[in-house]
Amino acid sequence: MKKLSSVLLALVLVFAFGFAAFAGSAADEGSFGAYEHVFILGVDGAGRFFKDIDTPNFDRMFENGAVKYDARAEVKTDSGPNWGAILTGASIFKTGLQNGVTGEAERTSETDFPTVFTYLRKAHPDAVLASFVHWNNINNGIIETDVDVYKFDVGSDDGVTDAICEYLDSGNAPELMFVQLDDVDGAGHGYGSKSDEYFEAIKVADAQLGRIYDSIVANGLLDTSLIIVTADHGHTLTGGHGGITLRESQVMIAIAGKTVVAGGKLDAGTRNRDIADIALYALGVETPDTMTARVPSNLFAGVNGESRPGAKDLADALISAFVWPLTLITGIFGA
Ligand SMILES: [Zn+2]
Repeated sequence: MKKLSSVLLALVLVFAFGFAAFAGSAADEGSFGAYEHVFILGVDGAGRFFKDIDTPNFDRMFENGAVKYDARAEVKTDSGPNWGAILTGASIFKTGLQNGVTGEAERTSETDFPTVFTYLRKAHPDAVLASFVHWNNINNGIIETDVDVYKFDVGSDDGVTDAICEYLDSGNAPELMFVQLDDVDGAGHGYGSKSDEYFEAIKVADAQLGRIYDSIVANGLLDTSLIIVTADHGHTLTGGHGGITLRESQVMIAIAGKTVVAGGKLDAGTRNRDIADIALYALGVETPDTMTARVPSNLFAGVNGESRPGAKDLADALISAFVWPLTLITGIFGA
């Protein structure tokens, strides 16, 4: 009898551990829905170049975070396709968000490829959602106009930063806040991605990020926030973007939060569109079918990066696979 109960106990244990192991491989160590706030802080045109200049605020924000400087931008390295992808988790072949398109028509939640704002509004009807931008195409032509999102735009990065600090200081605690600063892109166009003017603009943006971060801290939001800094694209040596060179195509993704792997590098396949899925994941919303974004490995403890569902967007998968080797070759020549 004793022997039988031992055998039964052993079977129960094997079953229990087997099940736990199976469950463990699918779930993570608690990052799904672990955050109350996500801040996506975008620096237009900054590419990978924060790493080439002293950025003390960025450094202190991501001291215990995961930082990758060579994530991949969308193949058309313009703002529309890239902020579009960062917010929808889908490529331009699906969203059609060329720069021109974002300036022509307002976007509504009827679109086939909604932004994270639409998904969050559906999942959390009472959530506070906000977007503060310098380039107002984002607030009108990318983020749906019929979804309840607090939107602010002004043609100055200092103005955007002031408004954000005021908004947070007034007691607003957004579930998602999207921010876009634009002056680094202006300096990139004027002087190229190796110029003193460009690096000076990055230093100014770094100070603005620091002010936003300090406001998040001062208003008691840091412990429950996932903070992301990224860029839509970089710039060529002489200035400009839209092409496939490495200088235009590589972008930083820096992420900090209580379950983020300190020193995590994110896997080699990471693209800026993955930010859409990362934001939803942190806030407890499953990846929608419209996205070809994913949570990369080496970001959250215990999360193994899923493979990108290429079959969902064959045009993107094929063109990306074809273009990337050419992009890498341009890097050999410093372009
Ligand atoms: Zn530009």
